[in-house]
Amino acid sequence: MALRTVAEYVESLRDDREVWFRGERVPDVTSHPVIGKAVRHASIDFQMAEDETYRELAVVTENEKEYSRYYKIPQNAEDLLLRSRLIEAATAEGDTLVVLIKEIGTDALFALLAVTAGMNDPVYHQRVRAYYAYCRDNDLSLATAQTDVKGDRVKRPSEQADPDLYLRVVERRSDGIVVRGAKIHTSVAPNANDIIVLPTRAMGAQEADWSVAFAVPANTPGVKLLASPFGDGKSRPGEQPISARHKMMETMTVFDDVFVPNERIFLDGDTALAGALALTFVEYHRFTAVSYKLPLVDAIVGAAVTIADYNGIMKASHVREKLIKLIAYAETLRALTQTAAKRCVAKANGQVAPDPMTVNLAKSHFAHGYHEAVQHLQELAGGILVTGPGDEDWTTEETRRYLQKYLVGRQGVSAEQRMAMMNFIRDLTASEYGAYQEVLAIHAEGSLEAEKLQIIRSYQANGSAERVVALARKMATRQSTFTAA
Ligand SMILES: Cc1cc2nc3c(=O)[nH]c(=O)nc-3n(C[C@H](O)[C@H](O)[C@H](O)COP(=O)(O)OP(=O)(O)OC[C@H]3O[C@@H](n4cnc5c(N)ncnc54)[C@H](O)[C@@H]3O)c2cc1C
Repeated sequence: MALRTVAEYVESLRDDREVWFRGERVPDVTSHPVIGKAVRHASIDFQMAEDETYRELAVVTENEKEYSRYYKIPQNAEDLLLRSRLIEAATAEGDTLVVLIKEIGTDALFALLAVTAGMNDPVYHQRVRAYYAYCRDNDLSLATAQTDVKGDRVKRPSEQADPDLYLRVVERRSDGIVVRGAKIHTSVAPNANDIIVLPTRAMGAQEADWSVAFAVPANTPGVKLLASPFGDGKSRPGEQPISARHKMMETMTVFDDVFVPNERIFLDGDTALAGALALTFVEYHRFTAVSYKLPLVDAIVGAAVTIADYNGIMKASHVREKLIKLIAYAETLRALTQTAAKRCVAKANGQVAPDPMTVNLAKSHFAHGYHEAVQHLQELAGGILVTGPGDEDWTTEETRRYLQKYLVGRQGVSAEQRMAMMNFIRDLTASEYGAYQEVLAIHAEGSLEAEKLQIIRSYQANGSAERVVALARKMATRQSTFTAA
């Protein structure tokens, strides 16, 4: 089996995994009122592989075997561009919400493949290769748990008051290891088949027990998924055209003395490689991030143009200025995303990764501009974003006639048309979903400071810093020679 149907995916989640929601154990994630929505959202991935419109993009054929494109190990810029297009298309099907059910897991696999290829002991790379093939051939959905709970942010793992604040190995046996700790913000964990665990940062020589990477099925004994209830309110399809249908779940992912068999241990005790693995994952994952932001920023531009038109303000100079800013914001992100693929860098294992400097520029550009983009859209839309009528007011004859008469836009724009767009903008920017997107923009795939750090590091590492300093010095010297003459 290399491609699963939606039904097979959904069935695979009925495996007695330990998921908790608002203090209660969830017997079946697929039928849970909130987590079930996340399962249906994730199903987009499997639907696209079956859909004629997307099949060519979503499915790769190699040696007469078909598998999901997410599992295609990028070997050149074209592979990265196609991966980006698929992520963009899937997120557009999710009405601006990323699917992520294979995106983040394959980012982790690519990082593991590249980093273990350089290890002295070949056994780790062999294990990763075998696990990669197992995931690809069984079309698995994967979560990646990298972010630790971290306690005192300034202290290292070994300096924390409680050593479990970063996930660590607490026992080594002949057949495997026992790990303890908690990862946080783990997206799609309640509806993924396996969870890949990576270190979150560089480790010191004394931090061998924290330098660990592995994978386990989500129903492994001791793995406890404490699902976040954020955005679990009542869904009204008219008022919440996006979030009534789409949802991604995050968990606090507790590893309460979990046994990991040898064949699923990908790093154990190699303190020097822990940081390299964390960073390589981020290089791939920020490319996924900027790819899935594209439908979101496009939706903001499209909604801004439409609502400005509906409100009759299209010709006002301040409106034009805001639309130009939004277009520049979205198109700069698109250009940087594509450039990150085109400038890809070679890694071990015969694969490439997006250019680290460009991908961090893209992510930083997106994250720094997102709240301002939301501000422009809300300004063009008007205050009715948070004072408008509810779905029931449209189905009650006595109230509907007032809505139809008074909520129209410019001539020719009905109240229904205008309010449908308002509801879309409200859900996108002024709802729990809107708040989720705002926090996602700032923190997910690394916070603003992490991206800045990577920009300066890669600028130095790729020789740009040396080049510009030499250039400036040459220019300055030339000037002084001229002056002296
Ligand atoms: C919706 C969502 C989904 C996510 N999905 C995943 C996922 O699937 N898997 C995963 O592993 N992670 C995931 N993340 C985690 C994401 O990568 C982190 O949120 C991000 O790395 C920031 O970490 P943090 O949230 O723990 O914040 P913190 O690290 O606590 O940051 C808070 C503030 O402290 C600052 N800070 C932190 N450390 C220091 C320091 N040493 N010195 C000075 N300042 C410091 C930061 O710059 C920031 O301003 C997700 C996050 C979100 C919001």
